This record gives sequence, structure tokens and C-alpha cells, in this order.
Amino acid sequence: MEPTARQRAALSLICDTFLPGDGAGLPSASELGAVDTVLALLARAPRAADRQQLATLLNVWDAPLFGVLTGRGPHRFSALSPQDRERALLRLGASGLGPLRAIFQALKGASILAYNITPGPTGANPLWQRLGYPGVPGAPEQAPPPPLQPLRCATPATLSCDVVVIGSGAGGGTAAAVLAGAGLDVIVLERGNYYDDRDFGAGEFDALRRLYAAGPSASAEGQITLVAGSCLGGGTVVNWSTSLPTPDHVRAEWAELGAAQFVSAEFGDALAAVTRRIGVTTGRSPLSARDGVLERGARALGWTVDPLPRNVSDACDAGVECGRCGYGCRLGAKRSVTKTWLADAASAGARLVVDADVRRITVRHGRAEEVSARTSDGVEIRVRTRAVVVAAGAVQTPALLRRSGLRNENIGRYLRLHPATAVFGVFDDEIRPWEGALQARICREHADLDGNGYGVIYETGPTHPGLGSGFLGWHGAADHREVMLGFGHSNAVGVITRDRDHGSVTVDRTGEPVVKYRLSDHDAAHLHTGIAGAANILAAAGARRIFSGHQAEVGYEPGRRGSHAEFATAARTAGYRPGRCALGALHIMGSARMGGSARLSATDPDGATWEVPNIVVADGSCFPTAPGVNPMVSIEAVGYMNATRLAARLR
Ligand SMILES: Cc1cc2nc3c(=O)[nH]c(=O)nc-3n(C[C@H](O)[C@H](O)[C@H](O)COP(=O)(O)OP(=O)(O)OC[C@H]3O[C@@H](n4cnc5c(N)ncnc54)[C@H](O)[C@@H]3O)c2cc1C
Repeated sequence: MEPTARQRAALSLICDTFLPGDGAGLPSASELGAVDTVLALLARAPRAADRQQLATLLNVWDAPLFGVLTGRGPHRFSALSPQDRERALLRLGASGLGPLRAIFQALKGASILAYNITPGPTGANPLWQRLGYPGVPGAPEQAPPPPLQPLRCATPATLSCDVVVIGSGAGGGTAAAVLAGAGLDVIVLERGNYYDDRDFGAGEFDALRRLYAAGPSASAEGQITLVAGSCLGGGTVVNWSTSLPTPDHVRAEWAELGAAQFVSAEFGDALAAVTRRIGVTTGRSPLSARDGVLERGARALGWTVDPLPRNVSDACDAGVECGRCGYGCRLGAKRSVTKTWLADAASAGARLVVDADVRRITVRHGRAEEVSARTSDGVEIRVRTRAVVVAAGAVQTPALLRRSGLRNENIGRYLRLHPATAVFGVFDDEIRPWEGALQARICREHADLDGNGYGVIYETGPTHPGLGSGFLGWHGAADHREVMLGFGHSNAVGVITRDRDHGSVTVDRTGEPVVKYRLSDHDAAHLHTGIAGAANILAAAGARRIFSGHQAEVGYEPGRRGSHAEFATAARTAGYRPGRCALGALHIMGSARMGGSARLSATDPDGATWEVPNIVVADGSCFPTAPGVNPMVSIEAVGYMNATRLAARLR
């Protein structure tokens, strides 16, 4: 988005109100260059409607009438004192109207993220220096040449094959290997680009632009931030390497919904094949300071804590380097699908095509015949094919099926997000939460809160300033600065909810996905139990200050100010409606679920769409319900299983 002078002035003033600088070395957002970062991130928004909405907001932001509508009174924002500007923002964040809170959340999220990830004019953001964050490590000194040679189409191309796989992440990468290994001629079309060890290490800002999906960045109600990988290998390049199998009770639930093989040896064998190929091990899960807090606190409460299996090789340092792997593993140790299944696919002759955004599958007489894609430069690619595997992730897969004319009402329904939040604890000791094995411990104390297997799990994650601040409320500039300056001593315990209820993916007029998701009361009650539980863990581990991601200030200092009971009551009072508590989704699933009938599911027990049998879905969209654990291994197993069945049909 190229802003007008008025729009840029409004955005600068907003960002500088969130992050004014301290007059003692910390620059304001605009001095740091964070306003340009906001604009660069927003320019990626795939929906023209979203970009237009922001432009309109910035056009009217300074108008007195907008002030009246948003509670700051008939004043220009620019004419207010800095204190009154801050009050105006806080009022917006606390508004009784959901859409106003959504505006606040979008502006807060963009401003704070941008500030915390912008290197600034010197290349080393002064905030990073003050809190002891090492900043951008740079490319590894030694890295092997990238092993894959994907194709990129500079001129219009028409190709043909047996099976085209759309999307190269956990599901698609695995499916491609199985299909190519079965002797089929496979083409993989991936909208992102190929990055390998030598390309990683350029910091959070760079990684967000190159490795992560451009959008949708949040649910339409503004309740939950959506995070997904987008590059060759998809989410497996940036994810946190936790490699848990599908729990047995979940497999039973999925079988009951009509895909009986989830309880049979067929799916068990698929899980075993995945576990083998991506090298799942418990031998590289040493305790970081971060996971030490989780383990110490939970065990002090008498709760069980288990080590997490991970898909990494012995080259993983499970330390300083590992903490950076959410932005790509510089050591080449993470066994992403790029390093494993896609390498197998390429060895078996599959053609990998990057920068190929699939817009449509052409269906004639009930059969898929052709797939059309375009590059970022607008070059058209057409692929004639016998079958199509759709594995574009659970947001893009249903959107593509809809764009291609499929009508089953379950396409896009049953979206599950594992809504996650974080409770922060501040410790006397330095934690350096951005370091250590990506994730090494799990506590399942509250995994079954309703007797049906629904509840929350506790895990930590590598918390860099940009990522971590996404889970914070904002209670004024000085408070935020203090929180960020203490970031090196803080630890976030993540609360991940197995959502029983669901949202949806629809498409707008241009065919871009729109995610709708409102946390149900049932799931919010579980999330709340998790927030209270995480606070207990942190207190038992010795935190001196504890706070949640609520926009209303919810926190206490054990033994000094407030109590756990008051904390829990304040959290419940603040609530979980859109804009009340920072929520994120890293696990996006279920939007083209497998099942036993077209009435209840989008795909059949083979993963094939009910309407077009030679379109098979093979990604997280297939899950009949939420698994309640980190989903990568389950997704790869579904990709393996559905591709094995498809290969048998095509042979
Ligand atoms: C930061 C982070 C950490 C995570 N940590 C863990 C973890 O530790 N353990 C775990 O189990 N899970 C983790 N996850 C979740 C896990 O990585 C994802 O659930 C998984 O990768 C999803 O697999 P998928 O095949 O459904 O989609 P993806 O892996 O997202 O792959 C979809 C691919 O399709 C491409 N695509 C989309 N649209 C198109 C199109 N139109 N044309 C062509 N290509 C297209 C995308 O660019 C993408 O590469 C994490 C996720 C994130 C974001």
C-alpha cells in the first residue's frame, strides 16, 4: 500500500502513541522506521478489501466525527496531548463494541509487532540491545548448497503429469513423496519460494515476509491471529519441531465420524512411517530455562510433565541456535518435509515448482482435468493431470475448492484453530525466552476438562520480541516499555485449547479466503482454566509478577500484590470475547474434514471430495475434529495415507 501523506501522518501518530520512545535512547516507532515496517507487512494482505479498509480508517482517523464515534470526543487525534492520545487508544481497546475493539487490536498488533522486529537505521534495534536480545544472527558461516532444484516459470507454461499436488507443506510434501515413490509422474505447485540453511538467519522481519503466509492474518472478528508457513515445505520449515502422534481417543473419535481406518493398522502404519522418515526422537529435548520453568512449576503442583519428541537430527544444538528455528533452521537439523519427503519426491522424479499460486482446478463432467496457477509476476502456468491433491493448508484448501466451483456445504465448515494464549511470568533470573530447544516439555494436566477429551495443554515456545509481544495486552506506553525491557527475564507458558466448537472459511468476491471464528463459551471456559493453571505453574516456579494477555490489565505479584484467586476472577470478568484477550492460532485444521457421508463431511474416507473423486485433500483440512496435540505428525500421516490410497486407485 502506497499511503497518502494524510494516511502516513495518521499511522505515524498511532504508532508513536503505542510506542513513543523514552527520550533515553529508545526511539519512537516512527524514528525507528517501524511505520514503514507496518506498511510493508500490510501491503502483503491478500484481500484488496482489507487494504482498502485500512486506507479508509487512516483517512478518517483524525476527523473529529471519528473521535465522537470512537469515544475520544469531537477532537482531532493530532490535536490531543500525548496523554490524551494514549487514553483515546485505551478507550478504543476497552470499547463495548466488538468492531471498535477489533480496530484497536489490529492497530496495536501491527504497531507493536513492527516496532519489535524492525532492525532500525543501525541494524540493531536499541530495544533489543537494552533487553539483551541478540538480534539478527545473519546467514550461517558454512552451509551446504541447497539440495533441491525447484523450477520457476518465467514464461507461460503448459505441463502435464499423473498427479498435481497443490501446496508443499506437511500434508502435500508427504503426499508427493508417496505418489512419486509409487511411480507416478508428480508435479508439486507451491506458491512460496525455496529457502535452505544458507538463506536463514535474517531475523524476524525478514522471515515473516519470506517464510510466512501473507494472510489472512486474523479472523474476521479480530479475535484470533492466524500464523502459517508459506514456502517450499510450508509450516514444517518454520515450526517448532514437536512431533506427537495422534492420541488414541482422537483416532477413535475420527473413526466414529466415518473414516474407520483411523483406528486401524492403516493409519497406525502411516504414523510409524512418518515418525521414521522425519527422525522423531526424544534424544534432543534438553531443558531450556524456559521449559525449566514449566517443568519446575508443574511438578511443584504435583502435575506430570513429559519430554516432547522432536524431528531433528543430531546436528541440532537444542540451544541458542534451536531457539531461532521458528525462522528456519540455520544448521539444517530440522527434519522439515523439504529435507525429507520433498527430497524423496524429487529423487523419484517429481517436479517441484515454486512461486506458483494455484487459482483454480478445472472440472469437466465431474472430473478434475487441469490446474491453473500464476507466478508473482503474473505468468500463467497450466497443468493437465489425471488427479489433483489439494494440500494448501486449512485456510487456502477450502478457498481453492470453492474457487473451483465445488459446492458441498461442508467445504470450509468445521475449522479448528486450537486457540492459544500465553500467561507471562517475570523472574529474578534471566530466562532469555528466545533460546533453547524449540519446545521440549508438555504438561497435560488439564487436557480433559469435560470428560470427552477436550481441554488444554501447556507448552512453551521460542519467544522472540515480535512473536512474544503478539500475546500481550497494551495498557499504556510506559507499561508496555517496562514489560518489553523485562522480556529477557520473562517466560510465557502457552495454553493451547482443543476446540470442540468450530469456525469457518468462506471466500470473498475475489475468491480470497475469509476466516470466521468465535470462541464458544464451552471452549472459552477451558481456555480460562488454562490461564489460571498457567499462572499456578508460573507462581510455583517462582515468578515475581504474573500477567495474562487480556486487554484489561489482569495480573498479580505472588505474595506481594493481589492473589491467584483475584487474578482468575479478573481474567473471567475481562472475558474472552473478540478483542478482550490476545489469542493466536498456529494449528489450523478441519475445514475440509473427512467423514462417512456428504451430509457431514467435505471429503470421503479416501480424502476425495464427494463431488469430484479425483480431487483428494491431504492436509490439516482433513481432520474430522481437533486433535488436541501439535498436529504436524498427524497431518503428515493423513498425507501419507490419502496418497497411498490414491496411488492404488491410479495404478
Ligand atoms: C510457528 C509455528 C510453529 C508450529 N509448531 C509446530 C510444532 O512444533 N509441531 C506441530 O506438530 N505443529 C506445529 N505447527 C503447525 C504445523 O506446522 C502445521 O499445522 C502444518 O504445517 C500444516 O500442514 P498443512 O499441510 O496443512 O499446511 P502447510 O504446512 O501450511 O502447507 C500449505 C502450503 O500450501 C501453500 N499454498 C497455499 N495456498 C496455495 C496455492 N493457492 N497454490 C499453491 N500453494 C499454496 C502454502 O504456501 C504452504 O506452503 C506450527 C506452526 C507454526 C506456524
